[in-house]
Amino acid sequence: MWPDNKRCAVGLSFDFDAETLWNRTMRQPFPGQLSRGEYGARVGVPRILKLLKKYDLKATFFVPGWSADTHPQLVEQMYADGHEIGHHGYEHEFVGNKGREAELEVLLKGTQSLKRITGQAPRGYRSPAGNTGPHTFDLLLDHDFLYDSSLVGDDNPYWLTTPQTKRQLLEVPYSWELDDAPHFLFSFSPYFTGMSSQNKVYEIWQAEFDGAYADGGFLGIVMHPQIIGRRSRMAMLERLIQHILGHEGVWFATHCEVAQTWIAATTP
Ligand SMILES: [Zn+2]
Repeated sequence: MWPDNKRCAVGLSFDFDAETLWNRTMRQPFPGQLSRGEYGARVGVPRILKLLKKYDLKATFFVPGWSADTHPQLVEQMYADGHEIGHHGYEHEFVGNKGREAELEVLLKGTQSLKRITGQAPRGYRSPAGNTGPHTFDLLLDHDFLYDSSLVGDDNPYWLTTPQTKRQLLEVPYSWELDDAPHFLFSFSPYFTGMSSQNKVYEIWQAEFDGAYADGGFLGIVMHPQIIGRRSRMAMLERLIQHILGHEGVWFATHCEVAQTWIAATTP
C-alpha cells in the first residue's frame, strides 16, 4: 500500500485554530480566552515548526482562513517549510447545519485566504470540531478537494458516499483518542476537564502507533498549537517521534500524500 515498501504511514496534523476557537466556536470573545489562541500563534507554531525541522518531517496544518489572514507570516513559514496547508473553515464556524449556500460561502472564503499564501487551492479539508452537514462532502468534490479529514469511521483512509449526489470522496480519518484537545483542553465554561498527564497521552498514542505498525496501517494524529505547544507536551511529542523513528519502514507523510497514495492504490 505505502510507497517504497514502507510498512505504515504516520500523518501528523496541526489545526491552527488560534483565536477563532474562542472568538467563534466557544463564543467567548474576551481577552483572557483569546490569549489562549494567541499562545498557539506566538509559542505553539514556532515550537512545532522547529521540532518538525529537527527531524525533517512534513506535516499537515489545517488552517482557518481567519488564522491565515491574521497570522500570515506563520502560515507562510509552514508553507515555506514544505508542509501541507489544509482548509479548516474561515472562522472555525459551524455551518454544516446552516444550508448549502452558507456552507459554500465559508468554503470559498477560507480557500481564498489560504490561496493568498500558497498560490493554490487547498486539497484537503477538516471541518471545525468535526462539524459536517448534508452538503459538506458534495461541496468538497464540486471544488476539487482530494480528501476530507472530518470523520472517524476507520483507522485507515476509506471511501465515503456523498449524501446528495452519491459520489465517492476519500476520507483520511482522525479520532478523538488521537486528538490532543479532549486529553488536554481545559475550560471552566463550557466545562472541559483536560489537564491530562502527558505520560497518559503518550501511553495511548504510542500503543496506537504500535498497533498501526503491526497492522501496516495509517496513524493520524490531530494536534493544536495552542494545546500541544506547552513545553511538557512538546517534550512528549518529541519522545513519540523518537519512538516511531526507532522502527524500520515508517512513512511520515502529509495527509495529501496519504490520500494520493490511497487513491492510486484503490481506484479501479
Ligand atoms: Zn479546529
